[in-house]
Amino acid sequence: MKIGILTSGGDAPGMNACIRAIVRYALSNGIECYGFYRGYQGILDDDHVVLKRTSVSNIIQQGGTFLQTDRCEDFLKSEYRRKAAVILRKHGIENLIVIGGDGSFKGAELLSEETGITVVGIPGTIDNDLAYTDRTLGFDTAVNTVIGAINNLRDTMQSHNKVTFVEVMGRRCGDIAFNAGLTGGAEYVLIPEMPFDIKKIAEEITESALKGKKSNLVVLAEGAGKMEEICAEFEKFSGIKPRQTRLGFIQRGGSPTYYDRLLACELGIESVKMIANGTDSRVIGVKDGKIISYGISEALKMRKQFNRSLYEDMYKLS
Ligand code: ADP
Repeated sequence: MKIGILTSGGDAPGMNACIRAIVRYALSNGIECYGFYRGYQGILDDDHVVLKRTSVSNIIQQGGTFLQTDRCEDFLKSEYRRKAAVILRKHGIENLIVIGGDGSFKGAELLSEETGITVVGIPGTIDNDLAYTDRTLGFDTAVNTVIGAINNLRDTMQSHNKVTFVEVMGRRCGDIAFNAGLTGGAEYVLIPEMPFDIKKIAEEITESALKGKKSNLVVLAEGAGKMEEICAEFEKFSGIKPRQTRLGFIQRGGSPTYYDRLLACELGIESVKMIANGTDSRVIGVKDGKIISYGISEALKMRKQFNRSLYEDMYKLS
């Protein structure tokens, strides 16, 4: 048996650790592994590498993905997905493991439906924006990176009595902002899931400054609005010019945390087991600490639940 492996969409820490787990577990079970470079584009270009145990040496601790990742416009068209299946079958590959986000899974779903190639999807994105799984590979590392940045910002904020807005990634999902804000001790967290009133925040911060509170940290999810506009409004209502820090792509890099490595190992092993047992196309993830799987279309239809009560309680801690 042969398995194809690719990473697609945005890269995330833990992807390398996951490829390593897949390759080593598969080889231990007599399954050959073909890695395709740059996501779906690598299949269309037949740009592949036959992976040995040593091909994945010394990568468990590295962020990013050595198979690289890309966005592949052609894969939006059925003719190219059919072409991809022809190329996979030329190598005797009927099973593909895709590590990526919801876009990559949509491509996987269509590839599977249209061509009969079996795809197992592993959630790899720092955004944690897939509803069917509690966690995605890379999220834990990204949150820890943001917490580290918040710690640094706090040092300088307190020395200068500043209000600081820090913008973090997450696309339309506020999970990075909320989790980093809660555990980094932010005064405010602005996320797309919850309404916020910048005038009220400005008034509260002005009032707290009068009572002697010197510094305030506001974590802003990129999906909650434009930082420049929000800060301009804040300044209009408070008269305070806030510092603005956009963390950007440093959130995507870094050595994966213990948790992301563990998840990478567990999901990598499970994906190979499922394929060896003749699974249909599915995505896998983790729910309440257990590995779970769903049909791809069912998983993609799910809507993420936000922990509203914890968000509200957070303000009692700040
Ligand atoms: P992510 O997987 O992180 O959500 P993207 O949304 O950019 O990232 O998707 C990654 C790739 O998956 C795209 O470049 C494309 O090749 C494929 N893809 C995304 N959406 C679709 C779709 N609707 N149909 C087919 N392929 C898709």
